[in-house]
Amino acid sequence: MREGIVMRKLALVTGGNTGIGRVLALAFAKAGHDVAFSWVSRPDMAESLVAEIEARGVSAMGLPCDVGVEAEVLAFFDAAERQFERAPDILVNNAGIQTWAPLLDLDESDWDAVIRTNLKGTFLNTREAGRRMVAAGKGGAIVNIGSGCNKLAFPNLVDYTASKGGIEQFTKSAAVELGHHGIRVNCVAPGAIINERTVAEAPDYAASWSAITPLRRVGTADDIVGPVLFLAGENAAFVTGQTLWVDGGVFTQANWPQR
Ligand code: NDP
Repeated sequence: MREGIVMRKLALVTGGNTGIGRVLALAFAKAGHDVAFSWVSRPDMAESLVAEIEARGVSAMGLPCDVGVEAEVLAFFDAAERQFERAPDILVNNAGIQTWAPLLDLDESDWDAVIRTNLKGTFLNTREAGRRMVAAGKGGAIVNIGSGCNKLAFPNLVDYTASKGGIEQFTKSAAVELGHHGIRVNCVAPGAIINERTVAEAPDYAASWSAITPLRRVGTADDIVGPVLFLAGENAAFVTGQTLWVDGGVFTQANWPQR
């Protein structure tokens, strides 16, 4: 094990207020790292997350920042660097949205919003983290949150699938370009993860996804923590450009006719 002693680092998480992002922000704090996170709505959630992170004995910053707007991303990184007096060591590109429509009915505005948030947001935050990591000269780790849509076509999720497929390829390009700076870029692709959002979208979410998942359950945000911390940490020091499927096997299984 390389991680007997954990060095205190600065971890940035986009879209930290809710769901997977919130659990990841708390997990980095529990691992002894300072945490900065971005959010767009619900300042009360941001305030309570800062308090929960700081209760773990590390420092926290939550800043409103739309990941798809360059000026806001620059301001987020500037504020984090000012508060923590260091460049980021870890970035998790977690912020993401979904809209649902068949291709022929998909609105341009939905397409733009999803691509801007999920794909452009990943680009803008990675570019900014990468610039600062390179300037600091101490390497870094970036983990992008993908989805089964990285490799499969899901019904009524054309824009989301295009954005996550883009993240799959962006991860590889960024890993290749940033590798010689000691910056690793990987992707974690969750399967069906139960949370407020997914249950609101489908009340029978747990039952329907458990039935088709080889491990016969849905995941929780806690299932994402270990894989993200692994890819962000020294135990993955020689791992870059990879996607780790954290999905109970659901997207490994072939769509096979019943016998
Ligand atoms: P949530 O909706 O709970 O979390 C998404 C977060 O992203 C919210 O906190 C939201 O902030 C934030 N966000 C949205 N738009 C922006 C923006 N423009 N700028 C900054 N933050 C923004 O969903 P999940 O936790 O489920 O999703 C997290 C990630 O995991 C996403 O990338 C999603 O695609 C991925 N994923 C989730 C799966 C699941 O089953 N849950 C499966 C596969 C992938 P706010 O609340 O302030 O609007």
